[in-house]
Amino acid sequence: MKKKQKLQTAAAMIRIYCKARHRKKILCSSCSELFDYVSERLEACHLSEDHASCFMCPEYCYHPDMRKKVKKVMYYSAPRMLFYHPILTLRNLHHLKKTHRSL
Ligand SMILES: [Zn+2]
Repeated sequence: MKKKQKLQTAAAMIRIYCKARHRKKILCSSCSELFDYVSERLEACHLSEDHASCFMCPEYCYHPDMRKKVKKVMYYSAPRMLFYHPILTLRNLHHLKKTHRSL
């Protein structure tokens, strides 16, 4: 998956999460901070683009606090993504299945 697609997915998931949990029309400060962090990590990621790295694999390079936050967002938003963004989600599920068996 291309970095741009990963970033799109991350943005979509964080938006869904923030809207539901924090009741904001735009991202609240902690969620936009999380998104900034995710895009930074994604930019810095040196794993190949085929690898479901960074947002999809927070184990690798995330700070433990951020990793916790990202996982919360993922668990909350992943099932809902199917409804809001079916095509993005199907692409990601493929990657998630390959790399997240242990989660
Ligand atoms: Zn929020």
